[in-house]
Amino acid sequence: KEPTLGNPQNTIEVLQKYNFVFQKKFGQNFLIDTHVLDKIIGSAEITKDDVVLEIGPGIGTMTQYLACAAKKVIAVEIDKALIPILEDTLSEYENVRVINHDVLKVDIAKLAEEENGGKPIKVVANLPYYITTPIIMGLFENHVPIKSITVMVQKEVADRMQVGPGTKDYGALSLAVQYYAKPYIVANVPPNCFMPRPKVGSAVIRLERYENPPVTVKDEKLMFRLIRASFNQRRKTLANGLKNSPELDYTKEEIEAAIEALGRGASIRGEALTLEEFAKLADLLSECRF
Ligand code: SAM
Repeated sequence: KEPTLGNPQNTIEVLQKYNFVFQKKFGQNFLIDTHVLDKIIGSAEITKDDVVLEIGPGIGTMTQYLACAAKKVIAVEIDKALIPILEDTLSEYENVRVINHDVLKVDIAKLAEEENGGKPIKVVANLPYYITTPIIMGLFENHVPIKSITVMVQKEVADRMQVGPGTKDYGALSLAVQYYAKPYIVANVPPNCFMPRPKVGSAVIRLERYENPPVTVKDEKLMFRLIRASFNQRRKTLANGLKNSPELDYTKEEIEAAIEALGRGASIRGEALTLEEFAKLADLLSECRF
């Protein structure tokens, strides 16, 4: 079944038929460009073996494209006003399951177990931008079996996910994403590809999950506490950031000794450290207590 949605005309038709009112609080910007849709599906490399999780199907535009390419699509949508619309636009697709829920409250690992016997799924979405970070981090930290995540996000957030130390966009999100996955920006997408038009530029980013993280660290949770602590207080030195963090309880001496052992000077800032260095710092600090 060929997709019927994906241009301004048929999107407006569906919206009018149901008197749909856009909800700003849900980050609703629907895709109205078939080239962008083809690009997303192509770069996600969906095959008939794949179970795909779509977050926020909207009126089902990308869902139709995904349903054509995948074995099964599970679409989680929070807005109950969209459910009757999805029943209509997806009525010809038998391999789609729509779940009316807040994706942040869904146990996705359990869903992957039910739908794909715990084998890795692919996540594809035009994300609601207000919750990009909690969605991505939730998928990684809860150890959901995932092969790749291909998502539309705010351009600036896509940049943050793929940069390294020494740039203004480098932060906790860059490090977290790069610990779990290899990021690759697929395309930049201008506001006129959406209805209504977002105020910001967008980009499609593909995150390919590593089977093994690129660095080894004894205490992953400690490493992420160190990362958060150093970027919460960007203008402070690394030593001060770690000393002031409510999440950490190392002494001034322990922290200074660990930074010294890293081979970095006392005035170094967290934003200069690579992922390897954060891993080493976490190992040094976890050893100093035993
Ligand atoms: N996929 C559609 C498209 O590309 O046209 C819609 C994308 S729109 C940017 C984001 C969608 O996510 C909206 O349909 C919105 O209602 C939904 N959404 C927002 N917050 C959500 C949440 N917490 N859980 C699930 N869906 C959510």
